Amino acid sequence: MTLFRLDGKRALVTGGSRGIGLAAALHLRELGADVTIAARDEATLRRAAEGTGLHWAVADVSTPGGVQAAVDATGRVDILVSNAGGPPPSFPSQVTDDGWQRGFETTFLSTTRLVDGVLTGMRERRWGRIIAITSLTVGRPALNLPVSNAMRAAVTNHLRTLSLEVAQDGVTCNTVAPGYTATDRLKALHATPADAEKLTARIPARRFGQPEEVAAAIAFLATTEAAYITGQEILVDGGWGI
Ligand code: NAD
Repeated sequence: MTLFRLDGKRALVTGGSRGIGLAAALHLRELGADVTIAARDEATLRRAAEGTGLHWAVADVSTPGGVQAAVDATGRVDILVSNAGGPPPSFPSQVTDDGWQRGFETTFLSTTRLVDGVLTGMRERRWGRIIAITSLTVGRPALNLPVSNAMRAAVTNHLRTLSLEVAQDGVTCNTVAPGYTATDRLKALHATPADAEKLTARIPARRFGQPEEVAAAIAFLATTEAAYITGQEILVDGGWGI
């Protein structure tokens, strides 16, 4: 018996042009899935997909039209990895209405709209995997990321709730919460080597995670073997959240 293969499955990974999203797309492809990555910038997508066998679609998932474009480009979606850029840092007392609104559209509504676009087909085929990339800040709010803390908690609980409705249809809904992972986002948030050193000293594993390590958890949840795991949050954080 061949375990953990995804031959014949189709996957959509949004926010897939770099970082954790791209690593997840490449891992799913490695397991045999037909994978489409979606993001806003065509040149970055082209570069990311070159020579990999990934398909790509230009789509801003913070808009209904962008979500539709990503779903249409994939065709049948058996595996959805919902991901986009994280909201910008600020102090909790200083978030404007506009900041909340943008976070709501990019992080929360993107996920609910993507789910709406793929769920009917998954239920009809009685096989589906819905996986959202969230953050370690769901369980441990970071002072400088109030919009992320709130919106990712909303995504987490929405998918837990949805899992109750669709488990009987063979559709699982889970979240993967990365800890500090060495991507462009992390470099932007913790720019200096001194910052990075201070942070890794507080991580039990004493290092940042790699995008491929988060991708491995996402890929496992996408397999048939993971059919009985639903409504869960998997932390990939080197022990930070313990
Ligand atoms: P990243 O910024 O490197 O990549 C984000 C991806 O999303 C890119 O492909 C970008 O083009 C795309 N994107 C951004 N806005 C989009 C939109 N509106 N529509 C479509 N695509 C969009 O981020 P990353 O480090 O790979 O992290 C992935 C997710 O995990 C982010 O939401 C991030 O906040 C979260 N996260 C990251 C870390 C970390 O340490 N890297 C830790 C916790 C949570």
